[in-house]
Amino acid sequence: MPHGPLRRSDLMEVDRARLAAPMQFDPIYLIIGAAVFVLLVVGFLFWKRGDPDDTVAIPRRPRSRISGLGGALRNAWGSGMGKGDWDSIEEVLLGADVGVVATTAVIEGVRRQGPETYEGAIELLGAGLKSQFETADRSLSLAASPAVILVVGVNGAGKTTTIAKLAHRFLHEGRSVVLGAGDTFRAAAADQLVTWGDRLDVRVVRGNEGADPGSVVFDTLAAARAAGADVVLIDTAGRLHGKKNLMAELEKIHRVASGGGEVAEVLLVLDATAGQNGLVQVREFATSVPLSGVVLTKLDGTARGGIVVAVEKELGVPVKFVGLGEAMEDLEVFDPNRFVDELLEQS
Ligand code: GDP
Ligand code: MG
Repeated sequence: MPHGPLRRSDLMEVDRARLAAPMQFDPIYLIIGAAVFVLLVVGFLFWKRGDPDDTVAIPRRPRSRISGLGGALRNAWGSGMGKGDWDSIEEVLLGADVGVVATTAVIEGVRRQGPETYEGAIELLGAGLKSQFETADRSLSLAASPAVILVVGVNGAGKTTTIAKLAHRFLHEGRSVVLGAGDTFRAAAADQLVTWGDRLDVRVVRGNEGADPGSVVFDTLAAARAAGADVVLIDTAGRLHGKKNLMAELEKIHRVASGGGEVAEVLLVLDATAGQNGLVQVREFATSVPLSGVVLTKLDGTARGGIVVAVEKELGVPVKFVGLGEAMEDLEVFDPNRFVDELLEQS
């Protein structure tokens, strides 16, 4: 190319020269291509690993502990509110197991106040839901020595796990604890409690499989008195040969446990995922033993936490604790305000 100022003809010459040169393949492209391919494969594998369908364990401490209804409510607002139609919002609450009585009361209240915006509606919904909880006192009565706590509920609800969680809590508060394995229906049930007892370094009194649970309760109380324990937690069976037998047995356990004084608490453990069926369970158990509180388990990983509202509103039994996982730390004192705020969050 000649020196001096660049002319148009020079540039054309360069273009022509470039076109004439044979196509050169730079190996760098091959390397980049291979690298991109490998990255894609690795990315896909990681993505599959995180797929909820493939994970078995429930995350122990999910960021949002209960699934928010905020998103569903926003959709309902968008589709129906233009026409002043509250049915879709009502459906969202019913779908979350808030229950007919509480849902109707809350929706009526919000409708009357006629919010203009979605934010206004959510605020009124929150206030309405919070007002459904009337019980202020959710504490356990632990004044007696020992304070006897009976834990009842159907199989798999989380009784044994909840006992471990409560024991862990009491130990942290500086109280001494003795556990009674009143579920003598299956040996594995007592084994499970003993395993927790070992882990917590707490005494567990048990009987043989099929032993009279009344005698286990008797022995547990005797051991607790001898040791000067502060709290006795008694596990019970959730299933027997027939519902009548179970209820009769619980009555008997309660009688034996009351032998040396009052039973401080009868806690019904309820699986939040049981839905409205949970209400039936509360009613059934309430006919045989005087329930003083509900522990709602498995609130992690369910979108139907609204059952808390229904339990209190329709049955008048306070929810005292909520279970949020399988570990012994995963138990919290129930706080209605925080619960409603989380429920209405968009997740
Ligand atoms: P029980 O038959 O009533 O004594 O129930 P268990 O205590 O044996 O619990 C049944 C299952 O539910 C076990 O696998 C527990 O780990 C699990 N579980 C109990 N409470 C919770 C909870 O709050 N959250 C979750 N995700 N699992 C729980
Ligand atoms: Mg059990």
